[in-house]
Amino acid sequence: MSEGCQYIGPEQTEWPYTMCGCKPITGKLYCAEHYHRIYAKGTSVNGKRRERAVEAEIEDIKRQQEIEEIENA
Ligand SMILES: [Zn+2]
Repeated sequence: MSEGCQYIGPEQTEWPYTMCGCKPITGKLYCAEHYHRIYAKGTSVNGKRRERAVEAEIEDIKRQQEIEEIENA
């Protein structure tokens, strides 16, 4: 199963929804941009720290993905 990013913008209220469709992060349902957006949502006092953690995680995943792409080339 290798579908694109499942993100649906909040402005979409009627079926059929259009998903983002970008290449998702390995093991996630969303591309890096939307993964970050979803995880950064609803943060308050610890928002900054949490955002940093998510950023670090995304960087890790991106690096891993790049390595995979090089190995599969
Ligand atoms: Zn996306």
